[in-house]
Amino acid sequence: MSNVKQVWNSVLKELESQVSALTFDLWIKNLQPVCIYRDRLVLATETEAHHNICEKRFHETIKKTSQKLFPIIVDIEIITSDMISAFEQYKEEELNADEEDTAASDEQATFFSSYTFDNFVVGKSNEFAAAVAKAVAEKVASGKPNIKYNPLFLYGGVGLGKTHLMHAIGNYIKEQNPKIKAIYVPTEKFINELLNIFRNSSDADARVVFRKKYRTVDILMLDDIQSITNRASTQEEIFYTFNDLYLAGKQIVISSDRPPKEIVPLEERLRTRFCSGVIADISQPDLDMRIAILQKMCLFERADIKKEVLRFIAEKITSNIRELKGLLTRVISYASLTGSDVNDMDVVNAALKDYAEDAKEVVTIQKIADIVCRYYNLDFKDLTGKKKNKEIVVPRQICIYLITEFLSTPLIAIGEFFGGRDHTTIMHARDKISATIRENKIIASQVKDLKDAILNR
Ligand code: ADP
Ligand code: MG
Repeated sequence: MSNVKQVWNSVLKELESQVSALTFDLWIKNLQPVCIYRDRLVLATETEAHHNICEKRFHETIKKTSQKLFPIIVDIEIITSDMISAFEQYKEEELNADEEDTAASDEQATFFSSYTFDNFVVGKSNEFAAAVAKAVAEKVASGKPNIKYNPLFLYGGVGLGKTHLMHAIGNYIKEQNPKIKAIYVPTEKFINELLNIFRNSSDADARVVFRKKYRTVDILMLDDIQSITNRASTQEEIFYTFNDLYLAGKQIVISSDRPPKEIVPLEERLRTRFCSGVIADISQPDLDMRIAILQKMCLFERADIKKEVLRFIAEKITSNIRELKGLLTRVISYASLTGSDVNDMDVVNAALKDYAEDAKEVVTIQKIADIVCRYYNLDFKDLTGKKKNKEIVVPRQICIYLITEFLSTPLIAIGEFFGGRDHTTIMHARDKISATIRENKIIASQVKDLKDAILNR
């Protein structure tokens, strides 16, 4: 198990041997490890200039090296230090990877130890998903072939516990029966690995190793399948992986932020396969459940917080459990930093200053998106969807630009909001519009209208 500092130190050691001493000293050594955010290593720079240079010249190298040492890292994110606070809540996240022996421990390495069934609060919005996940975990741990809940397709909005459930299945199996081979992989990473192999088509061994890795497991969990791309060869590989496992009675678990029929690039034959088992959705938790989640978190953090305070926090966030937990973390750390009483409502209010105002007053991504949709008369689904016609692409890019202008939301989080787009796509959209408004008067005036609309909402 490694925390972000240990991870970064190993990556640094490796990088030192790959770049010149001067490059290393000037640019790489003083990057500051911030956290592991989902499957990304987040690094901070002191200045904008340092950030730009690292992004441009070293992103690929650092990413590749990180991936090599820690296969569960999909990408890196370089931010400027003023953004660090946005990642505050992920600081404690640990990476269950063993740098000495990554190959052997690859599949064992991928489960977050805190994502267990015990730590998962069950309520109306997720009880079916949780029950099926548990049944699947028990079945796979027993070592008998599985036909009942296969495949399990989990879907639900961002931050509602899909990844948590997958890791819980993995942790359960590892604990009950360490011999069982369980693999968890974000779809984006699966695809990246595959594309690397396609690129080096001369390396036939790599393909064999890849197939062996994914087709000889007892359970394969593919997270965020909505990030699948159109590419036929990728879909084909997933299709055959699925078939091999399925026919051998091995379990498949897939997650998505939307139901199978809304995953646009998905080929019909894959969609049919994904729908052929159990589909379990996770919806938004009600207030009681949100309070229960905070209570559980208090137990875990050994924080003694009154129910009224928890209720007050739970009323602020309705749709994303990650954000909900983030607010509680904020309150606890604020109270401990200022040496004040966490159960004092004034303290709680001060800690949640940005959220304490009437929610309508706060600009959010959603509000900006709604304003853009209204202005261009577009469906929200199209704005964040995959359509590529100009009438949609331009408003989409403008919307992304506006979000980056008004909010300090991390690019990866914006990407997530826009249907799981990569942070580089978001960056591209932002830069495109900021260049366009300098030369295109029409776009410039639309952007100005929209800015006014957001300010006067
Ligand atoms: P998703 O994969 O659906 O976007 P995650 O599984 O990453 O969401 O969950 C986001 C955060 O919320 C994680 O910290 C997770 O532990 C927490 N979480 C989600 N659902 C629950 C739950 N029912 N009980 C406790 N914590 C939860
Ligand atoms: Mg997830």
